[in-house]
Amino acid sequence: MALVVQKFGGSSVADAASIQRVARRIVETKRAGDDVVVVVSAMGDTTDELLDLAGQITADAPAREMDILLTAGERISMSLLAMAINELGVKARSYTGQQAGLRTDTRYGKASIVGVVPERILKAIDAGQVAIVAGFQGVNELNDVTTLGRGGSDTTAVALAAALQADVCEIYTDVDGLFTADPRIVPAARRVDRITYEETLELAAHGAKILHLRAVEYARRYGVPLHVRSSFSNKEGTWVTDKPVGTEAEEEAMEDPIISGVAHDRSQGKITVVGVPDVPGIAAKLFEVVAGAEANVDMIVQNISTQRTGRTDISFTLPEADGRATMRAIEEAEDTLQFTEVRYDDQIGKLSLVGAGMRSHPGVSAKLFGALSKAGINIEMISTSEIRISVVTRIEDLDAAVRAVHTAFDLDSDESEAVVYGGTGR
Ligand code: ASP
Ligand code: MG
Repeated sequence: MALVVQKFGGSSVADAASIQRVARRIVETKRAGDDVVVVVSAMGDTTDELLDLAGQITADAPAREMDILLTAGERISMSLLAMAINELGVKARSYTGQQAGLRTDTRYGKASIVGVVPERILKAIDAGQVAIVAGFQGVNELNDVTTLGRGGSDTTAVALAAALQADVCEIYTDVDGLFTADPRIVPAARRVDRITYEETLELAAHGAKILHLRAVEYARRYGVPLHVRSSFSNKEGTWVTDKPVGTEAEEEAMEDPIISGVAHDRSQGKITVVGVPDVPGIAAKLFEVVAGAEANVDMIVQNISTQRTGRTDISFTLPEADGRATMRAIEEAEDTLQFTEVRYDDQIGKLSLVGAGMRSHPGVSAKLFGALSKAGINIEMISTSEIRISVVTRIEDLDAAVRAVHTAFDLDSDESEAVVYGGTGR
């Protein structure tokens, strides 16, 4: 008998019929003899709708109130799911994040889990019940509810799985697992059988929307195997783990594929500071100002200075959401930075190629740049890690870039595997 944590995303519980379908699936696992703890997201686009509602009332909602509002979404789905399971003759009880013992710090809207004390969940398991836990929320030391940031239910599930020492954390979604690219852009994308935590982190950090970044970090830290799969089919999904699985495990780990996927990100902007003096300390000053604006800088490029002027340009990318405040901070520091001009460009796209095999295979960047050049796509910036190469392109070239790179690395599948079963992609 195993202990399985199953997490269902919003598109899997979008309406009453979906909730009943998910309930049947949970009951199947339970009847097969496993213990099941379920984590559920808010129904469909509920969280966005609650955000829209608050936006109609105020442009400046207190963070504490926002968290009370948003946690309501998961309370609706958890109670309905418990009812649906009870209807099928299996005992189920729902618990808020607070009741399930998810303790967080006090940062409303983006709280981190500081501890999990799942006493009530353990009792429910002992009593043979299915425990349903509201995702995305916890309680802080002030006894206020907090949320873990958008998409945070994945993190709830992994944290519970770690605390309960579950055998697996199944993440149910509206596609059959992790794909070599977003199937909405590359219909020939292929499902990945197994991927390491490290590769998944790089993909999630660079725009792949399949898993919450913090959930993967948590899973890696505690060695929780994740199985990402569809709640709409019975197919085997993608295993996120550092250990070989299935036939691979039997046959002795095969050599890992060189490339595990292509991620893309449209949510970055680029700031170019033109004509700063090319003297020691200028970059330090600039990025002090940027850090003061709390922007998360990703790529940085400094041009060669022209000898005649002794000045240079520095460009960097950052989340668009940080763009305005950062521009303001730089403009205010004009006297210290002595630039001639600052420019902001939100029409950029970022493509990232990820694969652990890059470490031992030369020529990956050459092939990537070759594919983009053949497709007539200009590269504006480049950055690399040990297992990733990212490039910035014009935003209108991004989809074509992703397709070209996917094909160049032989990732295209012959069968169309990538079925998107639900969700609005919102
Ligand atoms: N309902 C929350 C959101 O939409 C949390 C989640 O879905 O994981 O962000
Ligand atoms: Mg959601």
